[in-house]
Amino acid sequence: MADVPASRDGLYTIKPVTGKGLGFIATSKISKGTRILLEVPLFKTPGSTKDIGSAEIIVLREVKSLTKDQQRAFFALQNVQGRKCTPVLGIVITNMLPLGGSNSGGLFLEAARINHSCQPNAQHTWNNDLGHLTVHALRDIEADREITISYMSGVSPGYVERQRYLMNAFSFACACELCSLPLLARAGSDYNLDQIRSIDEDEGAATDLDQVLERPAKSFSQVHRLFELLEEEGICDIRFARACFNAFQIAAVVGDKARAKVFAERAYAARKVLAGDDNPTTIEFKHLAKQPVDYHLYGKRMECYDDSWEAPRGICGEELENWLWNTDGWSRYSFS
Ligand SMILES: [Zn+2]
Repeated sequence: MADVPASRDGLYTIKPVTGKGLGFIATSKISKGTRILLEVPLFKTPGSTKDIGSAEIIVLREVKSLTKDQQRAFFALQNVQGRKCTPVLGIVITNMLPLGGSNSGGLFLEAARINHSCQPNAQHTWNNDLGHLTVHALRDIEADREITISYMSGVSPGYVERQRYLMNAFSFACACELCSLPLLARAGSDYNLDQIRSIDEDEGAATDLDQVLERPAKSFSQVHRLFELLEEEGICDIRFARACFNAFQIAAVVGDKARAKVFAERAYAARKVLAGDDNPTTIEFKHLAKQPVDYHLYGKRMECYDDSWEAPRGICGEELENWLWNTDGWSRYSFS
């Protein structure tokens, strides 16, 4: 295991929050990208709880092996499962956080106290290299403000669906900033979130690899729209980093090294904010920002490859954005 860098002490305190039980409160101003928490799991849990019987056996074994103090802290956690299962499993289901793509979860005594927001100011990520969960500030957080994460794993449907999910899974009605918008503003936000989902999710034109390979220019314009929607909604979480990577992927597939490099740099910067420089995916993006041609799909549509393509020197702001999204050059290679 790699050396584990410490999180900064004293950034938060855990105390009662009106209507929410306990919560994380910033004790001083926390800057965007700051590592707020670095925590090792009390124990790992099965990702799927469909087989309740075997899940119970596993978690009971884990809880029995804890020290008395750890057991006390574990049983002080919330359980919203009621009589659907034993209290031990109920606590695990209520509080476990996902461990990346490994289809398992982890029970974290400290992170379990971070409340949900549909517009969170922090992001939790499992760092497999470190064997720790990290929580980073997605934006500047003022002193005395609550630190929040999303319990919805990188997606955010419209208001009605959000409320239904959170009530079913966690037994609370969300009253976050996004859920408290006036009716008309909420309808506008719901419309944008629907569009974001349709582009961002697996089958969307921006992310589906078959579509990217078939029609890169169309996928690229979809990602451009995705960026506009994310900006309009003020979304800077994992979805923003994913959009940067999608744009990189498309530019890389057609062998457009200049644009691929810019988007890989943006994907790296976004990942660094939400997961830190020591996160395996951040490290991968950092490498691609230096060497976009190392991406395994680079030049898959090699007929587009042109070594003379370079980012224009010295441009920035609007001029850079206009150049970045203008793919007229691709049309010479009959992409549609
Ligand atoms: Zn909400």
